[in-house]
Amino acid sequence: MISEFLAFDSTKCTGCGACIVTCPIKAIKPGPNKIYIDSQRCNLCFDCIDICPKNAILLNHKQHIEIKEHFNIMENVS
Ligand code: SF4
Ligand code: SF4
Repeated sequence: MISEFLAFDSTKCTGCGACIVTCPIKAIKPGPNKIYIDSQRCNLCFDCIDICPKNAILLNHKQHIEIKEHFNIMENVS
């Protein structure tokens, strides 16, 4: 886990660098564990999750559930 919102699986990561190029605020850099994500800078756009061909960057499971519940509530309201 790299933050309360994002999780990173280094065993899936190939170090391709796509997420580094894609991050709009340069919060991802090469690191000793293939990449390093600066969770203090991350603005949670989730572009890195979308671009990663190996699904190595994931939404933190707990947050995923909370977001899904949020949208389920919103769907039921509208
Ligand atoms: S979620 Fe967005 S801002 Fe955060 S590290 Fe990924 S691409 Fe960068
Ligand atoms: S896009 Fe995915 S596989 Fe490529 S460096 Fe980033 S986390 Fe690793």
